[in-house]
Formats: sequence, structure tokens, C-alpha cells
Amino acid sequence: PPVACLVIGMAGSGKTTLMRALSDRMGVLGQVPYIINADPAVAHVPYVANIDIRDAVNYKEVMKQYGLGPNGAILTALNLFATKFDQVLELCKRRADEVSHVLVDTPGQIEAFTWSASGQIITESVASEMPTCVLFVLDVPRSRSPTTFMSNMLYACSILYKTRLPIVVVLNKTDVAKADDLVGWMRDFELFQKALDDDRDATYASTLTRSMSLALDEFYAGLEVVPVSAATGDGLDALVGAITRAATEFEEGYALEAKASL
Ligand code: GDP
Ligand code: MG
Repeated sequence: PPVACLVIGMAGSGKTTLMRALSDRMGVLGQVPYIINADPAVAHVPYVANIDIRDAVNYKEVMKQYGLGPNGAILTALNLFATKFDQVLELCKRRADEVSHVLVDTPGQIEAFTWSASGQIITESVASEMPTCVLFVLDVPRSRSPTTFMSNMLYACSILYKTRLPIVVVLNKTDVAKADDLVGWMRDFELFQKALDDDRDATYASTLTRSMSLALDEFYAGLEVVPVSAATGDGLDALVGAITRAATEFEEGYALEAKASL
């Protein structure tokens, strides 16, 4: 069966750009991605979507019809899409023997997907049909301060709790800033502590930061981390590999859960 990737990340982290780059790269590797856009408010997508929420729901109409602001309209559009998601999966399943991956782009604002009932419904229905992982996209140039980086990783951690899916951390925009420091912080606790020592902004709540980072160290141990540039295509082959390992992890975890429930 295909492997599903839910592409999640802060607004502007590069989710949509990564969708394009990753699907292009998969095409070159002879794989067949099936592409779903679940962002109702995007003006233009740089990829050809097999299924687009904007064909199902007109977000501007939803604003008018229900007298909603932009955030309310995004949530309402996502709710409507979630009610039709069984049909979406039906279309995927029909092509299950040719499709290698199902890539899902999510709304710009992360919480519209991660903290909504419809985001949860979509996540659970995909994961009940096929091995599924989260691609957590992180903006490297904007995460170079150790405290900002840590708060991003705490968000990734909360996504793990909410979705219980394997997470691949995608350190994006390496054409602008190298991800070496960030990877180092995740691999070596001492390096992160040193970065905190050197960071003037880190004095605020620094004791808390230190104990938090100790807890995160445990979380990092089970994560796939891949530096990429969605703009230049750098690192995408490694990302495809990490997705395959995440799918295996999903299947093993799933098998364990199934056994436990017997
Ligand atoms: P989304 O809100 O997460 O979907 O982010 P977008 O894909 O729309 O990207 C936000 C901005 O970041 C756009 O201006 C992109 O061109 C830019 N961007 C995305 N990925 C990269 C990258 O790898 N390198 C650079 N330099 N810019 C990027
Ligand atoms: Mg986007």
C-alpha cells in the first residue's frame, strides 16, 4: 500500500514548496505520489493536485455565507472537507496499486490542522487506511536561536502526542542557513547546553529551558531528522529514505498495538 505523509509546519516554513519539490523528486525516482491539497485558503499551489480542497469548498464563499473571518472560514472549510474525506480515501484506494505515496498539504496556520476536530478526523482516517507519518517542516533560518528551536521541537512533541504517528523533522531552507547546528543540538545534549550558555536571550526561564531540553533529548532519540532545501532540492533523497523508515516504524508500532489489544 502507499505511504501517507501529512506535511505539517508553521506558516511560511515551506510546506507547499516542499510538496512540489518532493513530488517532483519522487517522480524522478520512479515513484508515483498522489497529491492532496487540504489548505482552503492558498491562492496558488505550485504542484498539480490530484485532490484539492478548493474544488470541494470555496473558502471566500464560506466567509460570506456564514459571516466568518478568515480563521473561522478555514476551519469551516476543513470541517466540510473532513465530512467528505471517506470519498477522498476511496479515490486514493482505487489507485493503491500504482501509487507509492500520498502527500497531504495542510493549511498555512499550523493550529488549523493540529488543533481542530477535522484535522484529527483527516489524520485518523488516513492512518487507518495506510502507513502514515508526519513531515514536520521547520524553517531553519528562523530557528537558529536555541530557545526558538526548542519551542518548535516542543510543538513537534505535542504533535506526536496528538497523532501518535512517526515524525520526520524536515529542517528546511538549508540554502539560506545551514542546519548543522540544529542537528548537533539534537544529537548531543552538551552542544545544546553550550548554545544556551552563549545565547543572551536564553536567560529568561533558563532553568526551565534546561530541564525541558533534557526531556526533549529522549524525544529526539526516536526522531528522523533530515536537512533539506525545498528550493534547490537538496536532501530530498534522504527525506524519501526517512519516509520509508517512518512507514516501517508505523507498521511495527501498529502491529504492537494490535497485539496488545488481543
Ligand atoms: P507554507 O506556508 O508552509 O506552505 O510555506 P510556502 O511553501 O508557501 O513557503 C513560504 C515561503 O518560503 C515562500 O516564499 C517560499 O518561496 C519560501 N521557501 C520555501 N522553501 C524554501 C527553501 O527551501 N529555501 C528558500 N530560500 N525559500 C523557501
Ligand atoms: Mg502552504
